[in-house]
Amino acid sequence: MAKKLNKQDALDYHSQGRPGKIEVIPTKNSKTQWDLSLAYSPGVAEPCKEIAQDVENVYKYTAKGNLVAVISNGTAVLGLGNIGPEASKPVMEGKGVLFKIFADIDVFDIELNTTNVDEFVNVVKALEPTFGGINLEDIKSPECFAIEERLRQELKIPIMHDDQHGTAIISAAALLNALEVVKKKIDKVKIVINGAGAAAMACVRLYVSLGAKPENFIMFDKDGVLNTSRTDLDDAKKIFATRSKVTRLEEALKGADVFVGLSVGNVVTAEMIRSMGKFPIVFAMANPDPEITYEVAIAARPDIVMATGRTDYPNQVNNVLGFPYIFRGALDVRATQINEAMKLAAVRALADLAKTAVPDIVNMAYNERNIVFGPTYIIPKPLDPRLLSTVAPAVAKAAMDSGVAQAPITDWEAYKETLNN
Ligand code: NAP
Ligand code: MG
Repeated sequence: MAKKLNKQDALDYHSQGRPGKIEVIPTKNSKTQWDLSLAYSPGVAEPCKEIAQDVENVYKYTAKGNLVAVISNGTAVLGLGNIGPEASKPVMEGKGVLFKIFADIDVFDIELNTTNVDEFVNVVKALEPTFGGINLEDIKSPECFAIEERLRQELKIPIMHDDQHGTAIISAAALLNALEVVKKKIDKVKIVINGAGAAAMACVRLYVSLGAKPENFIMFDKDGVLNTSRTDLDDAKKIFATRSKVTRLEEALKGADVFVGLSVGNVVTAEMIRSMGKFPIVFAMANPDPEITYEVAIAARPDIVMATGRTDYPNQVNNVLGFPYIFRGALDVRATQINEAMKLAAVRALADLAKTAVPDIVNMAYNERNIVFGPTYIIPKPLDPRLLSTVAPAVAKAAMDSGVAQAPITDWEAYKETLNN
Protein backbone atom coordinates (compact mmCIF):
# COMPACT_ATOMS: atom_id res chain seq x y z
CA MET A 1 0.00 0.00 0.00
CA ALA A 2 1.42 3.36 -1.03
CA LYS A 3 2.30 5.80 1.77
CA LYS A 4 -0.35 8.49 2.18
CA LEU A 5 1.18 11.92 1.69
CA ASN A 6 0.24 14.94 3.69
CA LYS A 7 0.39 18.66 2.96
CA GLN A 8 3.63 19.24 4.87
CA ASP A 9 5.47 16.46 3.02
CA ALA A 10 4.61 18.13 -0.27
CA LEU A 11 5.54 21.63 0.88
CA ASP A 12 8.85 20.43 2.35
CA TYR A 13 9.69 18.56 -0.84
CA HIS A 14 9.38 21.79 -2.81
CA SER A 15 11.01 24.21 -0.40
CA GLN A 16 13.91 22.26 1.08
CA GLY A 17 17.40 22.84 -0.32
CA ARG A 18 17.26 24.91 -3.47
CA PRO A 19 13.61 25.95 -3.90
CA GLY A 20 11.72 24.33 -6.77
CA LYS A 21 12.44 21.13 -8.68
CA ILE A 22 14.83 22.04 -11.51
CA GLU A 23 18.17 23.62 -12.33
CA VAL A 24 20.32 24.24 -15.42
CA ILE A 25 23.39 22.05 -15.85
CA PRO A 26 26.14 22.84 -18.42
CA THR A 27 26.82 20.04 -20.91
CA LYS A 28 30.35 21.07 -21.92
CA ASN A 29 33.60 21.41 -20.01
CA SER A 30 33.73 24.76 -18.26
CA LYS A 31 36.59 24.49 -15.80
CA THR A 32 39.53 26.23 -17.49
CA GLN A 33 40.24 29.53 -19.15
CA TRP A 34 40.37 27.61 -22.45
CA ASP A 35 36.92 26.07 -21.85
CA LEU A 36 35.44 29.46 -21.07
CA SER A 37 36.91 31.09 -24.16
CA LEU A 38 35.19 28.36 -26.19
CA ALA A 39 31.90 28.46 -24.27
CA TYR A 40 31.65 32.22 -24.38
CA SER A 41 33.57 35.05 -26.04
CA PRO A 42 35.49 34.81 -28.30
CA GLY A 43 34.76 31.15 -29.31
CA VAL A 44 31.01 31.43 -29.16
CA ALA A 45 31.04 33.82 -32.13
CA GLU A 46 31.82 30.93 -34.50
CA PRO A 47 28.57 28.98 -34.03
CA CYS A 48 26.72 32.32 -34.06
CA LYS A 49 28.11 33.03 -37.52
CA GLU A 50 27.28 29.53 -38.77
CA ILE A 51 23.69 29.91 -37.59
CA ALA A 52 23.42 33.41 -39.05
CA GLN A 53 24.42 31.94 -42.42
CA ASP A 54 22.02 29.01 -42.21
CA VAL A 55 19.40 29.03 -39.46
CA GLU A 56 19.13 25.21 -39.56
CA ASN A 57 22.53 25.16 -37.86
CA VAL A 58 20.78 26.21 -34.66
CA TYR A 59 19.97 22.50 -34.28
CA LYS A 60 23.64 21.61 -34.67
CA TYR A 61 25.17 24.15 -32.30
CA THR A 62 22.55 24.84 -29.61
CA ALA A 63 20.20 23.01 -27.25
CA LYS A 64 17.11 23.95 -29.31
CA GLY A 65 16.55 20.45 -30.75
CA ASN A 66 16.13 18.85 -27.33
CA LEU A 67 14.42 21.76 -25.58
CA VAL A 68 10.66 21.96 -25.01
CA ALA A 69 8.77 24.90 -23.52
CA VAL A 70 6.02 23.93 -21.10
CA ILE A 71 3.79 27.00 -21.26
CA SER A 72 0.78 27.90 -19.15
CA ASN A 73 -1.15 30.96 -18.05
CA GLY A 74 -2.47 29.17 -14.98
CA THR A 75 -6.14 29.38 -15.96
CA ALA A 76 -7.03 25.65 -15.57
CA VAL A 77 -4.47 24.08 -13.26
CA LEU A 78 -5.03 20.42 -12.29
CA GLY A 79 -8.49 20.40 -10.70
CA LEU A 80 -7.67 23.70 -8.94
CA GLY A 81 -9.05 26.02 -11.60
CA ASN A 82 -7.83 29.51 -12.47
CA ILE A 83 -5.13 30.00 -9.83
CA GLY A 84 -2.84 32.26 -11.86
CA PRO A 85 0.54 31.87 -13.55
CA GLU A 86 2.78 31.84 -10.46
CA ALA A 87 0.63 29.21 -8.73
CA SER A 88 0.88 27.02 -11.84
CA LYS A 89 4.69 27.02 -11.74
CA PRO A 90 5.12 23.94 -9.50
CA VAL A 91 3.04 21.96 -11.99
CA MET A 92 5.04 23.19 -14.98
CA GLU A 93 8.34 22.46 -13.22
CA GLY A 94 6.98 19.02 -12.42
CA LYS A 95 6.12 18.45 -16.05
CA GLY A 96 9.72 19.39 -16.87
CA VAL A 97 10.94 16.73 -14.46
CA LEU A 98 8.76 14.08 -16.15
CA PHE A 99 9.98 15.05 -19.64
CA LYS A 100 13.54 14.69 -18.39
CA ILE A 101 13.31 11.42 -16.50
CA PHE A 102 11.16 9.59 -19.05
CA ALA A 103 12.55 10.92 -22.35
CA ASP A 104 15.70 12.96 -21.54
CA ILE A 105 14.06 16.09 -22.94
CA ASP A 106 15.06 19.40 -21.35
CA VAL A 107 12.31 21.84 -20.45
CA PHE A 108 12.06 25.52 -19.67
CA ASP A 109 8.76 26.12 -17.90
CA ILE A 110 7.18 29.42 -18.87
CA GLU A 111 4.26 30.97 -17.02
CA LEU A 112 2.58 33.82 -18.87
CA ASN A 113 0.69 36.64 -17.23
CA THR A 114 -2.08 36.93 -19.80
CA THR A 115 -5.53 35.49 -20.42
CA ASN A 116 -5.82 37.21 -23.80
CA VAL A 117 -5.64 34.82 -26.77
CA ASP A 118 -3.85 37.25 -29.13
CA GLU A 119 -1.29 38.23 -26.56
CA PHE A 120 -0.64 34.60 -25.60
CA VAL A 121 -0.19 33.59 -29.23
CA ASN A 122 2.13 36.51 -29.96
CA VAL A 123 4.38 35.76 -26.99
CA VAL A 124 4.68 32.07 -27.86
CA LYS A 125 5.35 32.88 -31.52
CA ALA A 126 8.18 35.16 -30.46
CA LEU A 127 9.68 32.29 -28.41
CA GLU A 128 9.93 29.94 -31.41
CA PRO A 129 13.69 30.47 -32.02
CA THR A 130 14.55 29.08 -28.57
CA PHE A 131 12.61 25.82 -28.57
CA GLY A 132 12.35 22.55 -30.47
CA GLY A 133 8.75 22.09 -29.36
CA ILE A 134 5.94 23.61 -27.31
CA ASN A 135 3.81 21.79 -24.73
CA LEU A 136 0.81 23.97 -23.86
CA GLU A 137 -0.51 23.17 -20.40
CA ASP A 138 -3.41 23.94 -18.11
CA ILE A 139 -5.02 26.67 -20.21
CA LYS A 140 -8.77 26.89 -19.82
CA SER A 141 -11.30 26.13 -22.53
CA PRO A 142 -12.47 27.55 -24.85
CA GLU A 143 -9.36 29.80 -25.17
CA CYS A 144 -7.11 26.73 -25.32
CA PHE A 145 -8.69 25.66 -28.63
CA ALA A 146 -8.01 28.96 -30.39
CA ILE A 147 -4.52 29.29 -28.92
CA GLU A 148 -3.46 25.84 -30.03
CA GLU A 149 -5.04 26.12 -33.46
CA ARG A 150 -3.38 29.44 -34.22
CA LEU A 151 0.02 28.33 -32.99
CA ARG A 152 -0.23 25.13 -35.03
CA GLN A 153 -0.85 27.23 -38.12
CA GLU A 154 1.79 29.82 -37.41
CA LEU A 155 4.76 27.88 -35.97
CA LYS A 156 7.08 25.42 -37.66
CA ILE A 157 7.89 23.43 -34.52
CA PRO A 158 5.73 20.69 -32.96
CA ILE A 159 3.11 21.94 -30.56
CA MET A 160 0.60 20.07 -28.42
CA HIS A 161 -1.88 21.07 -25.74
CA ASP A 162 -1.41 18.07 -23.49
CA ASP A 163 -4.64 18.42 -21.51
CA GLN A 164 -6.50 17.91 -24.76
CA HIS A 165 -4.45 15.50 -26.82
CA GLY A 166 -2.46 13.67 -24.18
CA THR A 167 -5.67 12.65 -22.46
CA ALA A 168 -7.29 11.77 -25.76
CA ILE A 169 -4.36 9.58 -26.84
CA ILE A 170 -4.01 7.62 -23.60
CA SER A 171 -7.73 7.14 -23.10
CA ALA A 172 -8.14 6.12 -26.75
CA ALA A 173 -5.49 3.42 -26.31
CA ALA A 174 -7.32 2.26 -23.19
CA LEU A 175 -10.64 2.34 -25.05
CA LEU A 176 -9.38 0.23 -27.96
CA ASN A 177 -8.10 -2.38 -25.53
CA ALA A 178 -11.18 -2.28 -23.31
CA LEU A 179 -13.33 -2.87 -26.39
CA GLU A 180 -11.12 -5.80 -27.32
CA VAL A 181 -11.50 -7.24 -23.81
CA VAL A 182 -15.31 -7.01 -23.96
CA LYS A 183 -15.42 -7.99 -27.65
CA LYS A 184 -17.30 -4.93 -28.89
CA LYS A 185 -16.70 -2.89 -32.06
CA ILE A 186 -15.86 0.79 -31.85
CA ASP A 187 -18.26 1.71 -34.66
CA LYS A 188 -21.17 0.06 -32.84
CA VAL A 189 -20.79 1.24 -29.25
CA LYS A 190 -22.91 3.96 -27.63
CA ILE A 191 -20.66 6.39 -25.78
CA VAL A 192 -21.72 8.86 -23.08
CA ILE A 193 -19.28 11.66 -22.32
CA ASN A 194 -19.70 13.72 -19.15
CA GLY A 195 -17.82 17.01 -19.56
CA ALA A 196 -17.38 19.08 -22.69
CA GLY A 197 -14.14 20.87 -21.91
CA ALA A 198 -10.60 20.69 -23.25
CA ALA A 199 -10.08 16.99 -22.58
CA ALA A 200 -13.54 15.75 -23.52
CA MET A 201 -13.62 17.53 -26.88
CA ALA A 202 -10.26 16.14 -27.94
CA CYS A 203 -11.26 12.64 -26.78
CA VAL A 204 -14.42 12.60 -28.88
CA ARG A 205 -12.54 13.81 -31.96
CA LEU A 206 -9.88 11.14 -31.59
CA TYR A 207 -12.37 8.34 -30.90
CA VAL A 208 -14.15 9.38 -34.11
CA SER A 209 -10.82 9.20 -35.99
CA LEU A 210 -10.53 5.65 -34.65
CA GLY A 211 -13.93 4.68 -36.03
CA ALA A 212 -16.53 5.67 -33.43
CA LYS A 213 -19.69 7.08 -35.03
CA PRO A 214 -20.49 10.73 -34.21
CA GLU A 215 -24.20 9.84 -33.92
CA ASN A 216 -23.38 7.31 -31.17
CA PHE A 217 -22.15 9.97 -28.74
CA ILE A 218 -24.15 11.85 -26.13
CA MET A 219 -22.25 14.59 -24.37
CA PHE A 220 -22.98 16.65 -21.25
CA ASP A 221 -21.64 19.89 -19.85
CA LYS A 222 -22.51 21.36 -16.47
CA ASP A 223 -25.83 22.66 -17.83
CA GLY A 224 -26.96 19.30 -19.19
CA VAL A 225 -26.98 17.45 -22.47
CA LEU A 226 -25.51 19.10 -25.58
CA ASN A 227 -28.45 18.96 -27.96
CA THR A 228 -29.58 20.84 -31.02
CA SER A 229 -32.26 22.78 -29.13
CA ARG A 230 -29.70 24.46 -26.83
CA THR A 231 -29.13 28.08 -27.84
CA ASP A 232 -26.25 28.74 -25.44
CA LEU A 233 -23.65 26.45 -27.04
CA ASP A 234 -20.41 27.89 -28.43
CA ASP A 235 -19.09 26.67 -31.79
CA ALA A 236 -16.89 23.98 -30.27
CA LYS A 237 -19.84 22.47 -28.39
CA LYS A 238 -22.34 22.80 -31.25
CA ILE A 239 -20.40 20.24 -33.27
CA PHE A 240 -21.20 17.60 -30.65
CA ALA A 241 -24.88 18.45 -30.09
CA THR A 242 -27.13 15.38 -30.32
CA ARG A 243 -30.58 15.15 -31.89
CA SER A 244 -31.65 12.53 -29.36
CA LYS A 245 -34.47 13.32 -26.91
CA VAL A 246 -32.37 12.27 -23.91
CA THR A 247 -31.83 15.08 -21.41
CA ARG A 248 -30.46 13.47 -18.24
CA LEU A 249 -27.30 11.49 -17.56
CA GLU A 250 -29.42 8.70 -16.01
CA GLU A 251 -31.33 8.28 -19.26
CA ALA A 252 -28.24 8.49 -21.44
CA LEU A 253 -26.47 5.75 -19.49
CA LYS A 254 -29.34 3.23 -19.81
CA GLY A 255 -28.00 0.51 -22.09
CA ALA A 256 -24.88 2.57 -22.99
CA ASP A 257 -21.63 0.68 -23.69
CA VAL A 258 -19.08 3.30 -22.65
CA PHE A 259 -19.01 6.12 -20.08
CA VAL A 260 -16.20 8.67 -20.27
CA GLY A 261 -16.04 11.15 -17.40
CA LEU A 262 -13.96 14.31 -17.83
CA SER A 263 -15.98 16.56 -15.58
CA VAL A 264 -16.12 16.62 -11.77
CA GLY A 265 -16.13 14.05 -8.97
CA ASN A 266 -19.06 11.98 -7.71
CA VAL A 267 -21.75 12.73 -10.30
CA VAL A 268 -22.39 9.11 -11.31
CA THR A 269 -24.23 6.65 -9.06
CA ALA A 270 -24.06 2.87 -8.73
CA GLU A 271 -27.62 2.79 -10.04
CA MET A 272 -26.54 4.48 -13.28
CA ILE A 273 -23.69 2.01 -13.76
CA ARG A 274 -26.09 -0.89 -13.14
CA SER A 275 -28.33 0.42 -15.93
CA MET A 276 -25.56 0.33 -18.55
CA GLY A 277 -25.32 -2.39 -21.21
CA LYS A 278 -23.45 -5.69 -20.78
CA PHE A 279 -19.72 -5.43 -20.03
CA PRO A 280 -19.78 -1.67 -19.49
CA ILE A 281 -16.62 0.35 -20.00
CA VAL A 282 -16.33 3.16 -17.46
CA PHE A 283 -13.51 5.71 -17.61
CA ALA A 284 -14.11 8.05 -14.67
CA MET A 285 -11.23 10.44 -15.12
CA ALA A 286 -12.08 13.56 -13.10
CA ASN A 287 -9.16 14.33 -10.78
CA PRO A 288 -8.60 13.94 -7.91
CA ASP A 289 -12.05 12.45 -7.30
CA PRO A 290 -13.47 10.43 -10.18
CA GLU A 291 -17.10 10.71 -11.35
CA ILE A 292 -17.69 7.47 -9.42
CA THR A 293 -15.24 5.77 -7.09
CA TYR A 294 -13.49 2.63 -8.21
CA GLU A 295 -14.91 0.62 -5.33
CA VAL A 296 -18.52 1.65 -5.92
CA ALA A 297 -18.33 1.08 -9.68
CA ILE A 298 -16.72 -2.36 -9.33
CA ALA A 299 -19.24 -3.39 -6.70
CA ALA A 300 -22.09 -2.28 -8.96
CA ARG A 301 -20.99 -4.35 -11.94
CA PRO A 302 -18.75 -7.44 -11.86
CA ASP A 303 -18.52 -7.32 -15.68
CA ILE A 304 -17.13 -3.75 -15.75
CA VAL A 305 -13.86 -2.52 -17.30
CA MET A 306 -12.95 0.48 -15.20
CA ALA A 307 -10.26 3.14 -15.52
CA THR A 308 -9.56 6.31 -13.55
CA GLY A 309 -6.94 9.06 -13.51
CA ARG A 310 -5.58 7.83 -10.17
CA THR A 311 -2.35 6.01 -9.42
CA ASP A 312 -3.85 3.94 -6.62
CA TYR A 313 -6.17 1.81 -8.81
CA PRO A 314 -5.71 -0.40 -11.87
CA ASN A 315 -5.92 1.16 -15.37
CA GLN A 316 -4.61 4.64 -14.69
CA VAL A 317 -5.16 6.97 -17.64
CA ASN A 318 -2.03 9.02 -17.02
CA ASN A 319 -0.75 11.55 -19.55
CA VAL A 320 2.81 10.68 -18.64
CA LEU A 321 2.34 7.62 -20.87
CA GLY A 322 2.22 10.00 -23.81
CA PHE A 323 3.84 13.43 -23.83
CA PRO A 324 7.49 12.47 -23.13
CA TYR A 325 7.53 9.91 -25.94
CA ILE A 326 5.40 11.87 -28.41
CA PHE A 327 7.76 14.83 -28.14
CA ARG A 328 10.82 12.51 -28.23
CA GLY A 329 9.65 11.08 -31.55
CA ALA A 330 8.66 14.48 -32.94
CA LEU A 331 11.98 16.13 -31.96
CA ASP A 332 14.09 13.26 -33.26
CA VAL A 333 12.80 13.65 -36.83
CA ARG A 334 12.48 17.42 -36.43
CA ALA A 335 8.76 17.25 -37.18
CA THR A 336 7.10 20.57 -38.04
CA GLN A 337 3.97 19.60 -36.12
CA ILE A 338 2.25 16.89 -34.10
CA ASN A 339 -0.46 15.81 -36.51
CA GLU A 340 -3.34 13.33 -36.41
CA ALA A 341 -1.24 10.53 -37.90
CA MET A 342 1.34 10.91 -35.11
CA LYS A 343 -1.35 10.90 -32.43
CA LEU A 344 -2.95 7.78 -33.89
CA ALA A 345 0.46 6.10 -34.05
CA ALA A 346 0.94 6.84 -30.36
CA VAL A 347 -2.50 5.38 -29.60
CA ARG A 348 -1.74 2.15 -31.43
CA ALA A 349 1.75 1.80 -29.98
CA LEU A 350 0.38 2.19 -26.44
CA ALA A 351 -2.52 -0.17 -27.07
CA ASP A 352 -0.25 -2.82 -28.60
CA LEU A 353 2.34 -2.56 -25.83
CA ALA A 354 -0.30 -3.45 -23.22
CA LYS A 355 -0.94 -6.70 -25.09
CA THR A 356 2.66 -7.93 -24.93
CA ALA A 357 4.14 -9.92 -22.03
CA VAL A 358 4.98 -7.67 -19.09
CA PRO A 359 8.66 -7.82 -18.06
CA ASP A 360 9.58 -8.72 -14.47
CA ILE A 361 10.95 -5.26 -13.83
CA VAL A 362 7.44 -3.82 -14.34
CA ASN A 363 5.78 -6.44 -12.13
CA MET A 364 8.34 -5.63 -9.47
CA ALA A 365 7.89 -1.85 -9.75
CA TYR A 366 4.19 -2.31 -9.00
CA ASN A 367 4.60 -5.06 -6.43
CA GLU A 368 2.71 -7.51 -8.65
CA ARG A 369 3.50 -11.07 -9.72
CA ASN A 370 1.89 -11.39 -13.08
CA ILE A 371 0.32 -8.38 -14.79
CA VAL A 372 -1.56 -9.66 -17.85
CA PHE A 373 -3.73 -8.05 -20.52
CA GLY A 374 -7.36 -8.07 -19.39
CA PRO A 375 -10.00 -5.99 -17.56
CA THR A 376 -7.56 -4.69 -14.94
CA TYR A 377 -4.66 -4.09 -17.34
CA ILE A 378 -5.68 -2.31 -20.54
CA ILE A 379 -2.91 0.30 -20.73
CA PRO A 380 0.82 0.13 -20.01
CA LYS A 381 2.12 1.16 -16.61
CA PRO A 382 3.94 4.52 -16.40
CA LEU A 383 7.14 2.84 -15.11
CA ASP A 384 7.37 0.45 -18.06
CA PRO A 385 10.83 1.12 -19.56
CA ARG A 386 9.69 -0.13 -22.99
CA LEU A 387 7.47 2.93 -23.50
CA LEU A 388 10.31 5.10 -24.79
CA SER A 389 11.60 2.68 -27.41
CA THR A 390 8.05 1.75 -28.46
CA VAL A 391 6.10 5.00 -28.62
CA ALA A 392 8.82 7.44 -29.76
CA PRO A 393 9.77 5.45 -32.90
CA ALA A 394 6.09 4.95 -33.77
CA VAL A 395 5.50 8.70 -33.58
CA ALA A 396 8.70 9.48 -35.52
CA LYS A 397 7.75 7.03 -38.24
CA ALA A 398 4.24 8.48 -38.53
CA ALA A 399 5.76 11.96 -38.87
CA MET A 400 7.92 10.68 -41.72
CA ASP A 401 5.07 8.83 -43.44
CA SER A 402 2.79 11.87 -43.19
CA GLY A 403 5.42 14.20 -44.65
CA VAL A 404 6.16 16.46 -41.66
CA ALA A 405 9.63 15.11 -40.74
CA GLN A 406 12.56 17.33 -41.73
CA ALA A 407 15.27 14.93 -40.53
CA PRO A 408 14.08 11.40 -41.33
CA ILE A 409 15.53 8.40 -39.51
CA THR A 410 17.08 5.75 -41.72
CA ASP A 411 18.56 3.24 -39.28
CA TRP A 412 15.72 2.29 -36.93
CA GLU A 413 17.71 -0.29 -35.00
CA ALA A 414 20.41 2.27 -34.23
CA TYR A 415 17.76 4.81 -33.27
CA LYS A 416 16.08 2.41 -30.81
CA GLU A 417 19.51 1.58 -29.44
CA THR A 418 20.16 5.26 -28.66
CA LEU A 419 16.79 5.45 -26.93
CA ASN A 420 17.62 2.47 -24.76
CA ASN A 421 20.94 3.98 -23.62
P1 NAP B 1 -12.35 21.83 -18.46
O1 NAP B 1 -11.88 22.29 -19.80
O2 NAP B 1 -12.53 22.83 -17.37
O3 NAP B 1 -13.74 21.06 -18.68
C1 NAP B 1 -14.57 20.63 -17.65
C2 NAP B 1 -15.88 20.26 -18.27
O4 NAP B 1 -16.70 19.61 -17.29
C3 NAP B 1 -16.67 21.47 -18.77
O5 NAP B 1 -17.21 21.20 -20.03
C4 NAP B 1 -17.78 21.61 -17.72
O6 NAP B 1 -18.98 22.16 -18.24
C5 NAP B 1 -17.99 20.16 -17.36
N1 NAP B 1 -18.68 19.98 -16.09
C6 NAP B 1 -18.47 20.57 -14.89
N2 NAP B 1 -19.32 20.11 -13.97
C7 NAP B 1 -20.09 19.18 -14.61
C8 NAP B 1 -21.17 18.34 -14.22
N3 NAP B 1 -21.62 18.36 -12.97
N4 NAP B 1 -21.72 17.54 -15.14
C9 NAP B 1 -21.28 17.51 -16.41
N5 NAP B 1 -20.26 18.27 -16.84
C10 NAP B 1 -19.69 19.09 -15.96
O7 NAP B 1 -11.38 20.73 -17.85
P2 NAP B 1 -10.61 19.53 -18.58
O8 NAP B 1 -9.18 19.90 -18.72
O9 NAP B 1 -11.37 19.08 -19.76
O10 NAP B 1 -10.66 18.43 -17.42
C11 NAP B 1 -11.89 17.90 -16.95
C12 NAP B 1 -11.66 16.88 -15.83
O11 NAP B 1 -10.95 15.78 -16.34
C13 NAP B 1 -10.84 17.39 -14.65
O12 NAP B 1 -11.31 16.80 -13.47
C14 NAP B 1 -9.45 16.87 -14.94
O13 NAP B 1 -8.71 16.69 -13.77
C15 NAP B 1 -9.79 15.55 -15.59
N6 NAP B 1 -8.72 15.11 -16.50
C16 NAP B 1 -8.15 13.89 -16.25
C17 NAP B 1 -7.13 13.43 -17.06
C18 NAP B 1 -6.53 12.11 -16.79
O14 NAP B 1 -6.97 11.40 -15.92
N7 NAP B 1 -5.53 11.69 -17.49
C19 NAP B 1 -6.69 14.21 -18.12
C20 NAP B 1 -7.32 15.45 -18.37
C21 NAP B 1 -8.34 15.88 -17.56
P3 NAP B 1 -19.07 23.64 -18.84
O15 NAP B 1 -18.45 23.53 -20.21
O16 NAP B 1 -20.53 23.91 -18.90
O17 NAP B 1 -18.31 24.53 -17.92
MG1 MG C 1 -2.49 19.54 -17.35
